[in-house]
Amino acid sequence: MVLKELQHIFHIELDAIYGKHEVDSFFYLCTEHYLNVPRIQLTLEQGLAITKPETETFFKVLEDLKQQKPIQYILGETEFYGLPFKVNEHVLIPRPETEELVDLMIRSVTASAVEKSIKILDVGTGSGCIAISLAKNLPKAEVYALDVSNEALAMAKENAKGNNVDITFIEVSILEASNWNLFFENTKFDVIVSNPPYVREIEKQEIQPNVLDNEPHLALFVEDDNPLIFYKAITYFAVKKLKTNGKLYFEINQYLGEETKQLLVDANFENVELLKDLNGNDRMLKGVKI
Ligand code: GLN
Repeated sequence: MVLKELQHIFHIELDAIYGKHEVDSFFYLCTEHYLNVPRIQLTLEQGLAITKPETETFFKVLEDLKQQKPIQYILGETEFYGLPFKVNEHVLIPRPETEELVDLMIRSVTASAVEKSIKILDVGTGSGCIAISLAKNLPKAEVYALDVSNEALAMAKENAKGNNVDITFIEVSILEASNWNLFFENTKFDVIVSNPPYVREIEKQEIQPNVLDNEPHLALFVEDDNPLIFYKAITYFAVKKLKTNGKLYFEINQYLGEETKQLLVDANFENVELLKDLNGNDRMLKGVKI
């Protein structure tokens, strides 16, 4: 089948759901992923044809897209902070807001960290996107990452390997912070970071149906009556396990900025700062342990 025809079919079937521009970008992602044909080649060679099995793959993708399955899960990969990451339904698709958090950290940690080795802990690592992009950009850092989900850790380990970084992964629940001590008995960290679950049930209607139907709820949702449960556990741990002047970074629920900030203030963190993401929402929080 000629690729141009196939692209036309994608438009007929999907434009109403996603819009023309988005459908084109899905199509080009697929030609690159499955055929190694970049966009420019498709434009130049209008008659480019593909085999029957390849055509079948594209029709399968078309079906998945019709069901609103995220393209990252269909292809099994995405990009985060300029690095390739594998993803599946056991991990959240890395978000641009989280790239902003990583960027903030790299910029504020860099000056000292490239010179000396520092210890970093990522709590609730999922795909490993935070831990791995930090490890990649702070090559002397010693990076640890934990998650409750064995399946998520398997993905994170693959991603660490794929990006050629060495990370120590630990399977433990955030809510069993007391158990973390078993793993980190003699370790204190320079940096602790987390993007824990923070979406409340009452905010469910704001979540896109494709997120709701496909992404792991374990990584997204918290109960309405205790939405900061993970932040409390991590802060409690950070008080004990951060070195003096160590830094704590969180991605946070935009509607709970002040409450989350107060947690750190109450735990005697200094220079506690709430930062906005590119959409102007309270999204990042940082504090320094004294
Ligand atoms: N930002 C994500 C979303 O809106 C939520 C991430 C999280 O719960 N940690 O889907």
